[in-house]
Amino acid sequence: MIQRLLCVSLMLLIIISLTVLISPNLKAITTSGKKEVSIGRNELFNKEQHQGKLQIRYFHLEANEKSGDSILIKSPDGQTMLIDAGMVDTGDQLDRYLDQLSINKIDYAVATHPHHDHIGGYHTILQSRQIGLLLMPDLPHTTEVYSTLLNRMTERNIQPTYVKDGDRFRLGKNVEVEIISPSNGALEKAKKEKKLSTKDINNLSLVIKLTYNNHSFLFTSDIYKKQERKLVHLKEDLLDVDVLDAPHHGDSTSSLQAFINTVKPSYTMMSANIFQSKKVYERYLKSGSEVYATSMYGNILIVSDGEHLKIIPEKIKR
Ligand SMILES: [Zn+2]
Repeated sequence: MIQRLLCVSLMLLIIISLTVLISPNLKAITTSGKKEVSIGRNELFNKEQHQGKLQIRYFHLEANEKSGDSILIKSPDGQTMLIDAGMVDTGDQLDRYLDQLSINKIDYAVATHPHHDHIGGYHTILQSRQIGLLLMPDLPHTTEVYSTLLNRMTERNIQPTYVKDGDRFRLGKNVEVEIISPSNGALEKAKKEKKLSTKDINNLSLVIKLTYNNHSFLFTSDIYKKQERKLVHLKEDLLDVDVLDAPHHGDSTSSLQAFINTVKPSYTMMSANIFQSKKVYERYLKSGSEVYATSMYGNILIVSDGEHLKIIPEKIKR
């Protein structure tokens, strides 16, 4: 009996000492000043965990220069849409992410506008994946990155599907996709111009609204304040969404206070490997939105069952 008691006491003592030894370390990890805490990497790239739900992944593409946007959307019934593919040099990274998720087919590949940090990665993706439709605005462009994209499309026998304001379709059975900008008139006018500025092309980016039951998402690509103002005037009733993709990677060219007030996002995502503007970041925070920038959080996954929304960042930088 005494031996048993001694044995139990000894075990208790060992457990207590282990807890004391481990807890300072745990504390060190969760409260450390600069440590990056990996919290969601396994969940982020888990293929099975969120099946049957809407999944949106903001990919973090690592490069020394601005790597651009790439957002993968998977409907609850498994259809896929890729909004942009980042720049040429990060095409392989994107390809590996798609491999990890076993995404072999992109049902809707979207090139929001012809700038290299949005279409470049398609050079790789067009060679490695099956593509259903490739959606883009009908805009002429003369860069090498753009002509290579057109060549790769020809090689795969893919014609562009031009889309504009008012076009809508369903991703799978239950996710509504609506193009809310640019207008046909703006595109026709642009085609008559001899040369379009960077700003002009950015303002002609596709703006896409996605709705799944109670949740709505707005993808704004690279629009500037001028286009935001137009949308506030013309599309006010469509702009109030739960999750906003901050225009132009969260840069100060965009994110008018009036636009933020109209969109009223609960969550704002900033797709940027290089952090763009503290001012804009704080503007969203002050407006009551939670802000997730890929430069801070790495890859970010949003999961929705139509009722509940969950945001899973790859890491937290404190
Ligand atoms: Zn861009």
